[in-house]
Amino acid sequence: MSREIHHIAHRKHPLVLRDTGSSFRCDGCGCLGVGSHYRCDLCDFDMHEFCATCPPASTFAFHGQHPLTFDRAGFLDGSVTCSMCEEPIKGMNYSCWGCDVCVHPICSQLPPTAVSPMHMAHTFVLAVGAPVECTLCRTSCHGRYQCLPCNINLHPKCLFGTVPTPVTVPTPVYIPNDVDALDKIVRRVTLLNLI
Ligand SMILES: [Zn+2]
Ligand SMILES: [Zn+2]
Ligand SMILES: [Zn+2]
Ligand SMILES: [Zn+2]
Ligand SMILES: [Zn+2]
Ligand SMILES: [Zn+2]
Repeated sequence: MSREIHHIAHRKHPLVLRDTGSSFRCDGCGCLGVGSHYRCDLCDFDMHEFCATCPPASTFAFHGQHPLTFDRAGFLDGSVTCSMCEEPIKGMNYSCWGCDVCVHPICSQLPPTAVSPMHMAHTFVLAVGAPVECTLCRTSCHGRYQCLPCNINLHPKCLFGTVPTPVTVPTPVYIPNDVDALDKIVRRVTLLNLI
């Protein structure tokens, strides 16, 4: 990965890959980020490494039927919510409008599978689709980690314990530190006779 790039979103100066050691707000997608990212010091312009370099179209396991198109111009103004984290999208995004799927670029990078101590029997698979009830928080979810055999659905934030948009992409194996949440779902899963 080159340390300096020219980006259409910031034509005045090159962007340099840097780690400022503090969090930043990406001028591409509007989401928070931490760690190594592209930056123009002169203009205080920041961009996730992924937002700056991701391909114009890409197929993701969570929507395997069609490739999603990357909106590099970032025309969305917050009127559309992310299919994955359900926060408004203000800027760059990946979408399949035919299927009404639109996600923050960083939300597209959620691990396709994850395990959770809330349900160790099976691996959860990331999917988007018609809303179903989240087994943990009981509100509806479009984007979710699902265990199909057991009919368990969890918002990504309910599985990983990060809200509302993941600042960093969580590692595939993550133990939530929210003991209450863990306890809640263990009780609910037991109630449903799922384990
Ligand atoms: Zn970004
Ligand atoms: Zn600049
Ligand atoms: Zn999102
Ligand atoms: Zn589609
Ligand atoms: Zn939930
Ligand atoms: Zn299961």
